[in-house]
Amino acid sequence: MNSDVCTCEKGFDFGKPVHELDKFAYFGNDLGAVYSKEKTVFTLWSPAALSVKVKLYATGSDNEAGAGVLAELPMEKTQDNVWRLEYAGDHKNEYYTYIITHKDKTVETVDIYAKAGGVNGNRGMIVDLPSTDPEGWDKDNYIFMPSPTDAIVWEVHVKDFSHCASSGISEKNRGKYLAFCEHSTLYGEGIVPTCVDYLKNLGITHVQINPFYDFGSIDESKNDDSFNWGYDPKNYNIPEGSYSTNPYDGNVRITECKQMIKALHDAGIGVIMDVVYNHTYQGGGSFFDLSVPGYYYRYNRDGSWSNGSGCSNDTASEHLMFRKFMVDSVLYWAKEYHIDGFRFDLMGLHDAHTMNLIRQTLDKEFGKDNIILYGEGWHMGTACARDTQLANQGAVRSMHGVGAFNDNIRDAIKGSVFGAYDKGFVQCGAGAERIKSGILGETCSWAGEASQCVNYASCHDNYALYDKLILSERGGAGYSERFDNLVSMIKLSAAVVLTSRGIPFFLAGEEIARTKFGDENSYCSSAKINEIDWENTGHYADLILYYQGLIRLRKRLDALRGSNEVSDKSNLRFIDNAMPCVTYVVDFEQDGINGHIFVALNPCDYDVRINLADTGLDKNTKWIAVANKHSAGTAPLMAISELALVENKSALVLIDEAAYKAIFKK
Ligand code: CA
Repeated sequence: MNSDVCTCEKGFDFGKPVHELDKFAYFGNDLGAVYSKEKTVFTLWSPAALSVKVKLYATGSDNEAGAGVLAELPMEKTQDNVWRLEYAGDHKNEYYTYIITHKDKTVETVDIYAKAGGVNGNRGMIVDLPSTDPEGWDKDNYIFMPSPTDAIVWEVHVKDFSHCASSGISEKNRGKYLAFCEHSTLYGEGIVPTCVDYLKNLGITHVQINPFYDFGSIDESKNDDSFNWGYDPKNYNIPEGSYSTNPYDGNVRITECKQMIKALHDAGIGVIMDVVYNHTYQGGGSFFDLSVPGYYYRYNRDGSWSNGSGCSNDTASEHLMFRKFMVDSVLYWAKEYHIDGFRFDLMGLHDAHTMNLIRQTLDKEFGKDNIILYGEGWHMGTACARDTQLANQGAVRSMHGVGAFNDNIRDAIKGSVFGAYDKGFVQCGAGAERIKSGILGETCSWAGEASQCVNYASCHDNYALYDKLILSERGGAGYSERFDNLVSMIKLSAAVVLTSRGIPFFLAGEEIARTKFGDENSYCSSAKINEIDWENTGHYADLILYYQGLIRLRKRLDALRGSNEVSDKSNLRFIDNAMPCVTYVVDFEQDGINGHIFVALNPCDYDVRINLADTGLDKNTKWIAVANKHSAGTAPLMAISELALVENKSALVLIDEAAYKAIFKK
């Protein structure tokens, strides 16, 4: 290919060749092993290789009954610069690798396009994908929202979710995909639902699940307590085996992963997959580097590996065949596994062209913006090709339909993640201006639309919210105790996030004061540190009710969410008469009803009175409180006029009486 711009057969613009091998780029849709009963066709892109063979095995490792080599068959190089082999006959469930002879070495590698694999992902497997579908899969529905701002995201890890016995999950499924399929799970005396039943009650719309593609750091042959977040990708298009009940049979993890997704969909909950294309578990020695040495990664001028990721290597999304790999992989998960959204780890290491191409590809298949896309848009140093526009917050305005995490509101709410004892808005009222920017969904700053702004106080990285409060308020003493003043701060934090425009997001268990006992970076800490202890649902029932109530309220009031359509029609103005309280009014129209919402967020240790005439509305306006320090929801808490009392460390949300009656009494 000699043109300046590379275009695939569907007409997508893959951009300009950057690497010398890009001129041999291949845009076909058949990379990998394509199975049918009559034959399996293998297609590999490795344009500089001297020869390639497919090696077929009976099992996924040599330590299994019946292990043995079935065949070694040469591939032929085509005019399209790919290697191909048609393997006649029905070879379902055979395992395979590629033996590639490069000019200086011969290596054995897993196919980077493998869609199934054996234990620990050391061999690919020929898979008949329709045969992996669980019962009812053909009737499974995606969870698409009218606007990304309608999503409410709960971030969880497969093992955290059910590892603890208090989850009520059967012992064999604890920490596994199948835990998501158990119903009527209870904690304690049988009154508190857990797991998926609990999530239905909580009202969140999506779970974001920490990596569940095949990662490298856990030995799948040991069914034990070992734990890792999974940000160490080995095979991008294969589900992780340690979460399955049988990591040896390449079909089982696929079926069980689909069962997890279907169970969540059946509960009305969408699945956002955490994807980590920015680096691989290993750089040299990865299946990418064994397949095409030196191509898929970035290197410094001195030839050393670029390491913006901090994980020893950075992939090169601006190289056409890695760009294509990302597009193909995301589309594959969305189609084959019915994934409803993707969260891109260290998105700031990718480039904006690739993210836009992913957006366009998904839109063509699923409709505009239906699949939610956002990522970590941090500004990062990396040895990318010149003229590469990295996909960081500064590029968000050039990436329609791709959002980014809002570190401004994260740090403003409870202090910087870079200082354990640093305080923020909920502790001492600091950071009010950045809170206001978050309330607007950063549209006054880096986001073009509120739907591009993911607002949050806590995620898997850094301290759990409760731990941050214990550190900054109590010097790190008493992780297992309940402190009611800290619970008030969590409620205020939740009120900030759930009344702000954008996509609200929180770490699983934030709403039950989850602790990791001050462990700031628990990526390989014990399962005991990381697991959700469902016993807390009993200790923090009031906190759960508060989150539930705010979620219910947010779902009913379009103006709180700030979809693009809503933002155009509603007017939000701040009333700076009681700083450091953050106070604002929204004039809105919803379903033909004109109304007003008043929100006051009081971080002070004392109660604050706010004259409602300062809203600029008719002084006779009567208001209904729907959230205060103690309660939140859609039920009327009290009628208020003229003067609003905002209790210490709390939020107050009011709706004008006429609009309240019209919206909630219907
Ligand atoms: Ca694995």
